[in-house]
Amino acid sequence: MSILIKNGTVITAQDNYVADVYIEKDRITTIGADLKIAADRIIDAKGKYVIPGGIDVHTHLDMPFGGTTSSDDFETGTRAAAFGGTTCLIDFAIQAKGTKMRDALDLWWKKGENRATIDYGLHMIVTDLPDAHLEDMNDMVREGVTSFKLFMAYPGVLMVDDATIFKAMRQTAQNGALVCMHAENGSVIDVIVRKTLAEGKTAPIYHGLSRPTTAEGEAVNRAIALAEMAGAPVYIVHLSSNDALQKVAEARDRGIPAYAETCPQYLFLSIEDLERPNFEGAKYVFTPPLREKWHQDKLWEGLRTNNLQVVSTDHCPFCFKEQKEMGKDDFTKIPNGGPGIENRLQLLFDGGVNKKRLSVNRWVELVSTTPAKMFGLFPRKGTIAVGSDADIVIWDPNVEHVISAQTHHMRVDYSMFEGFKVKGNAETVLSRGEIIVDNGKFFGKAGRGQFLKRDTYAGAWK
Ligand SMILES: [Zn+2]
Repeated sequence: MSILIKNGTVITAQDNYVADVYIEKDRITTIGADLKIAADRIIDAKGKYVIPGGIDVHTHLDMPFGGTTSSDDFETGTRAAAFGGTTCLIDFAIQAKGTKMRDALDLWWKKGENRATIDYGLHMIVTDLPDAHLEDMNDMVREGVTSFKLFMAYPGVLMVDDATIFKAMRQTAQNGALVCMHAENGSVIDVIVRKTLAEGKTAPIYHGLSRPTTAEGEAVNRAIALAEMAGAPVYIVHLSSNDALQKVAEARDRGIPAYAETCPQYLFLSIEDLERPNFEGAKYVFTPPLREKWHQDKLWEGLRTNNLQVVSTDHCPFCFKEQKEMGKDDFTKIPNGGPGIENRLQLLFDGGVNKKRLSVNRWVELVSTTPAKMFGLFPRKGTIAVGSDADIVIWDPNVEHVISAQTHHMRVDYSMFEGFKVKGNAETVLSRGEIIVDNGKFFGKAGRGQFLKRDTYAGAWK
């Protein structure tokens, strides 16, 4: 199968030019002006952008949490991603305490195979790390799992101590992987949460009020200090507040390889959403929590100045009915997470490019190119170039779309961005040279997505 995309405006992190893109089987083989090559299919992209498919490096599909499981599996989640122009994601396998990471990898491979409709990689969440198991991390790296996530929050469940974080970072200093940190001071938050509940405060808003921005700033600072001592880079996941951003900025000013992502929810929503009536605030319960509105401008500024390098979603959907409702009388029992895998490119394009906060090249860089570089997928993914995978989105910058649970493809009964009007949406989506979405119809198949072995010493090291 060969495809010729004609007359589109190719947008990469660097360039912006009108050209034809020729795809043979799963790769881009020729890019040029007015190509005269026979193809099985010709797509006219005049007036549209031709961009590398989005890469979402933070998703939780089919993930157990607090006695339930996130409502999208690898089939429904990757399909929804594709509709929104995301052609690759990196999900998280979770090492159960006292077990080998290999067991978790096997389990998550089973969740992905026969279901994923786009290519995917896995990070490994480390929950304990006795010295005898340090070699486990090298085992994962050999399998292409070249990033590890550790939690400074959720004591008794996922939280690890500083020694464990430091050991993991030292190991990555030797094997070229990257440590990703959930940075919130979980021990302090736990004390505040207990006190809050003891005072009879059980509504969703108390989820936000019991997790102060200072707890995030402190943990980010500590994570960066540990990385500095270990001689390794560090990547802060879902950074939500100015306090945390300032810690990253300070470190970067000193030349420390500290990196961070934020997510659309922190750019577009705020703590008031947790106060919605009829328990609807539960739809916005995730960690870190939503912040006061003024943080949004600071995060946009961080995206502009490159103190934030990536926008991911932390997609972790739980239905309002039956799942979020588990916490009706106790905010600590509300499953933590929200849906967003489908809307990342739309929101960033509308709020970033249309609102003149970001150039169109910076948009591509934040949602595709830097994620690929940071996590060892570049230049196979993350750009439009000869030899790269034909993961391509034909983006219509002028089409208007209203985000709604009525029309979205995520398997969840609400949208965090219900009623948001956005301009710009994916029209045609190719994954390794196959058209999987075209004009609102899905043509992909469950199981066609491949597990990606990722490189070591990727962007964070350079
Ligand atoms: Zn997450």
